[in-house]
Amino acid sequence: MGSDRFDVLREQVRGQVIEEGDADYESARLVYNGMIDRRPSAVLRVSQVADVMAAVRFARGLDIEVALRGGGHSAPGFGTVDGGLVLDFSAHRGVRVDPAARTARVEPGATWADYNHATHAFGLASTGGIVGSTGVAGLTLGGGIGYLSRKYGLACDNLSSADVVLADGTFVTASEAENVDLFWALRGGSGNFGVVTSMEFRLHPVDMVHVGIMFFDAATGADIGAAYREWIAAEPEEMGAFLGFHQGPPVPFLPEEWHGRPVVVVAGMWTGDLDAGPAHWQTMLDAGPALGSFFAPMPYPALNIMFDGLSAVPGLQGYWKADFLRTLSDDALRTAVEFSPGIPTVHSANHFYPIDGAVNRVAPEATAFAYRDVKFAPVIAGQWPDAADNAANIAWVRAYWNALHEYSEPGGYINFQDADDQSRIEDTLGSNYARLAELKAKYDPDNFFHVNQNIKPAQAANAVPSQPPAALQAAPAEPRPAEAALPEATPPEAAPTA
Ligand SMILES: Cc1cc2nc3c(=O)[nH]c(=O)nc-3n(C[C@H](O)[C@H](O)[C@H](O)COP(=O)(O)OP(=O)(O)OC[C@H]3O[C@@H](n4cnc5c(N)ncnc54)[C@H](O)[C@@H]3O)c2cc1C
Repeated sequence: MGSDRFDVLREQVRGQVIEEGDADYESARLVYNGMIDRRPSAVLRVSQVADVMAAVRFARGLDIEVALRGGGHSAPGFGTVDGGLVLDFSAHRGVRVDPAARTARVEPGATWADYNHATHAFGLASTGGIVGSTGVAGLTLGGGIGYLSRKYGLACDNLSSADVVLADGTFVTASEAENVDLFWALRGGSGNFGVVTSMEFRLHPVDMVHVGIMFFDAATGADIGAAYREWIAAEPEEMGAFLGFHQGPPVPFLPEEWHGRPVVVVAGMWTGDLDAGPAHWQTMLDAGPALGSFFAPMPYPALNIMFDGLSAVPGLQGYWKADFLRTLSDDALRTAVEFSPGIPTVHSANHFYPIDGAVNRVAPEATAFAYRDVKFAPVIAGQWPDAADNAANIAWVRAYWNALHEYSEPGGYINFQDADDQSRIEDTLGSNYARLAELKAKYDPDNFFHVNQNIKPAQAANAVPSQPPAALQAAPAEPRPAEAALPEATPPEAAPTA
């Protein structure tokens, strides 16, 4: 069903324009987080760059808010917007590998499963997310933490060039050679600076990896966490592994009596000599009596999708919080243990990702991602099926985060934050915030791209934006049941400690 307004857009694009009443509308409006129940006026399934240029000019002309959707994984649901236009890249996901130059050219709808499948055919890879269905674009623009970070840096550290449609609908390429300031801002500044329509990455030799996963009783998490802290610091950068607090998942290598009970897990992969893998895992395994473990060589893309069915289930209710830690202190670990019995479901995760090695070797001012001198990025990813549990589970995530934040840096990783973290944006971008605000004023002075963790243009920092950033409100004017259940955030100083 078309309206006159969007018929004009239809004439200008090759991709499908989907509106309320069209057969695909109800599925096209959804994002990964089932708590996000927004109704855009239209969803454009982008088929090529010309569509993006036309859509940006069209939306600007009619003062329509625009949301950008790659993999759709944003916890706050920045991939959709009430009453606006969604540019959905899910049909635009090709990956072209140049094996001689060791580069990959990626379209903006590609997921990490798409990317790894394409590059693995040539025995190559670069840092991506730990699950396969996360979008390459959204993850990279916010930084990008993964199993390969210690060895090869963040996903954005491997970005060599990006094509971008700016807020005025013009097209530019950003790299170390052209539009250098924009290229700087894209590597950590998230989706604030334009629509990225193509990205080029540097690739590295990564083929078969030695996977290790081990579970321990969460009650011993302070000791296991301390052992992990020492172990990962001593391991070569070929070891990429995180510490996590979970409900025991129903996997064959964890005894059934532990399914659903609080466990602490160390999981990841060794990318060095495969035969050396077992010895590298052994030191960590010796840290305590393991409840269960799994060690095996496997292709890197196989590990990347191994937990998608558990941790990346579309439609789950989701509420996330994040921090950066300079040290994984005993106090922080005791806090994790204290809160572990309350982890909402087997789909939820509380991970501590190492931020070291190659990530630390990049200077804080070299890219927009400022937290280069910390050691861990914790995420509290609450995910559960039933909206009736929203208030209780959101309260658990917030109470845990408030307690953990005492041991943290002011900011957290932008891609692990939720809608009510908008007030933390200056802390999150840290020492680079002022320059990012200046560049926002240069490239998007009217804050056209504001459905994101928003950086206000420098000169308008205190002004009311030209369009209301509806997607950043905790609830819309007429709240629908699921989103309405998101209560106000409790300021850390007023929060309960347990
Ligand atoms: C299950 C799960 C696992 C995750 N694991 C990891 C992980 O291992 N490491 C990690 O670093 N993060 C991880 N994340 C967080 C992830 O990085 C963010 O959710 C990120 O925003 C996802 O990108 P996307 O393209 O899937 O999201 P989308 O919701 O599609 O996009 C999110 C935002 O990214 C920006 N964006 C997307 N596409 C474009 C574009 N073409 N041009 C400009 N801006 C764009 C926009 O601001 C958009 O609103 C995970 C998230 C989930 C839900």
